[in-house]
Amino acid sequence: MSSAPAQVFVDSRPSHRVSTAPTVAVSATSDTRLGGAHRVRLNSAYITSLENAGLVPVIIPPFSSHVGALAAMSRLDGLVLTGGEDVDPSLYGQPRSAKCGESNITRDRTEIALIESARELGKPVLAICRGPQILNVALGGTLIQDIDSEVTGALAHNSENDRDSRVHDVAIEQGSLIAAAIGSRNIRVNSFHHQSIGDLAPGLRVTAKAPDGIIEGVEWELDNWWVLAVQWHPEEMNESPEPWDRGIFKAFAERLSRG
Ligand code: MN
Repeated sequence: MSSAPAQVFVDSRPSHRVSTAPTVAVSATSDTRLGGAHRVRLNSAYITSLENAGLVPVIIPPFSSHVGALAAMSRLDGLVLTGGEDVDPSLYGQPRSAKCGESNITRDRTEIALIESARELGKPVLAICRGPQILNVALGGTLIQDIDSEVTGALAHNSENDRDSRVHDVAIEQGSLIAAAIGSRNIRVNSFHHQSIGDLAPGLRVTAKAPDGIIEGVEWELDNWWVLAVQWHPEEMNESPEPWDRGIFKAFAERLSRG
């Protein structure tokens, strides 16, 4: 005997056919790590955080042309740039360091097209980990290819602790979007990155820093384009006793709900 069909996603009442929940493009990667086949991949924690904030995440794969990115941004309400592999150094005019990890140029190009489109259309952007890095490159900045070998006295930013383990302090600038979202100016964050923003792109402003000077947060300062970018991983902190990281997704959702 078969059980009754699940009703959760099956509701044909007219009032349930349309949703006004904001939709967000969420960039994903593609690789062959699982079973050798080339697959699109995204950590589910991003989906959980965005759904918890009342948003509808739509996964955006690396596209073979910029057309996909433009179509996605013209239809969706906002953009989330997620963590992942190192940006190809040729995109910011540097030779590849021996310490630079693998790149996915198709993903790089897709995300740059998404950023340019979001900028043109004034769509809000939440950038996480690799997010601030590709954002900085898309807008004309450079990256530190490997913190440990390039920055003397740097903290351990590439933690081997649990994903939700807070490992270093971050000081947040007063009056910034990040300060308002988090509700605090001194927090501890998780940290899984060996690269960071180097030369800052024109138009960006540093709004969060680690005690060693590594840039941990930026936003846009030229006009009212809403850009909140953090180097740590707020999406891994859904169960955290502190509300700081959930506040980032809440701020993004509130901005999107204002239209
Ligand atoms: Mn860090």
